[in-house]
Amino acid sequence: MKFGGTSMAGSERIRRVAGIVRRQQAAGHQVAVVVSAMAGETDRLVNFCREANPLYDPAEYDVVVASGEQVTAGLLALTLQAMGCRARSWLGWQIPIHTQEAHAKARISSIDAEAMIAAMDAGEVAVIPGFQGLSEQGRITTLGRGGSDTSAVGVAAALKADRCDIYTDVDGVYTTDPRIVARARKLKYVTYEEMLELASVGAKVLQTRSVSLAMKEGVRVQVLSSFIDEESPLADTLPGTMIVSDDDMAKIVEEHEMESQLVTGIAHDKNEARIVLTRVPDRPGAVSGIFAPLADASINVDMIIQNVGRDKGETDVTFTVPQADLARAQALLEDKRETIGFNRVITDSKVAKISVVGVGMRSHAGVASTMFKALAERGINIQAISTSEIKISVLIDEDETELAVRVLHTAYGLDADVPAE
Ligand code: ASP
Ligand code: MG
Repeated sequence: MKFGGTSMAGSERIRRVAGIVRRQQAAGHQVAVVVSAMAGETDRLVNFCREANPLYDPAEYDVVVASGEQVTAGLLALTLQAMGCRARSWLGWQIPIHTQEAHAKARISSIDAEAMIAAMDAGEVAVIPGFQGLSEQGRITTLGRGGSDTSAVGVAAALKADRCDIYTDVDGVYTTDPRIVARARKLKYVTYEEMLELASVGAKVLQTRSVSLAMKEGVRVQVLSSFIDEESPLADTLPGTMIVSDDDMAKIVEEHEMESQLVTGIAHDKNEARIVLTRVPDRPGAVSGIFAPLADASINVDMIIQNVGRDKGETDVTFTVPQADLARAQALLEDKRETIGFNRVITDSKVAKISVVGVGMRSHAGVASTMFKALAERGINIQAISTSEIKISVLIDEDETELAVRVLHTAYGLDADVPAE
């Protein structure tokens, strides 16, 4: 079981979490609980680091920011004990959770859960601070912002748990943002790959890395609401969204005689910016001359279009970068104007990327044309397109984001019969 920062914010809420934990235990489960720091706490700690030293040492940053989870883990153990439930905390170094690579963005390499398993076998609830691990040098590390999800999946894998239930402030994964489309539906099942694509285009429910880890380790993950009471159905009845493998999904579709969907979800992302370089020489090496310096500066380029060359052996190249990197990218390109040999850099940060995602499109044609037609009928202009095996993304004017999401949600038959309350 994993509880996020909103669920752990204050004694009252921690008591409610303890109640949920106890109920699971009473239902006959052995439980390990991974917790986040109280909502806002990690931001506060990061700020202290910045104030102390703007060029902070990541190893000391980890010492500071990992403390938020230590507090909530101890408090949950205390609260469980106050309810007469045997519980103890297991800090990252005590389990231990071994990690590799850089401080502040460490990766889990292995978890030696033997001692913890023995304690759980003896009837004790294990409470684990998320986000933290132990470096090869014996120092504390953290797994990157949002890393408690990854801690939870890692611990679930090490325990060979039946399930990793991620309790959060939403009650599942939806076909699209319910704030935009009132008829968005909660998905009962979604595959790892769909979840990864949805996350990478702005539908952030879980840390992306936790989904990759779950996929690699075959951990069944459920996203569900922590705002429940004694009357709410147990997590065992799967009230949230289950994230499963392709194979499991195929079996589920067959068993429940469900119609397999072409498109599972629609995501939007307003954090991209568009760059157009005009009159780039149309010759080998020109494109590489543009993207190599961006790659060297760790700027992620997403969508790319190169137009057909004009008569004069010149062409326009359009691509997108994260909005936060736009100024840096523009400066880098201006710097290389001579070598690359373009005429102008035109930028636009008022763009949005809309993506339709679904494993169903692997085996079906016509998914893209449905998208283009639906957008055209509403007069929405497409500025760039990119695709993967299970995703089609288009770049449009940011002002048309909500309209595009609604239109596509309807076009792919995703609307629920009644709007969510
Ligand atoms: N507390 C950490 C953060 O805010 C880790 C987490 O909550 O997942 O990023
Ligand atoms: Mg989180």
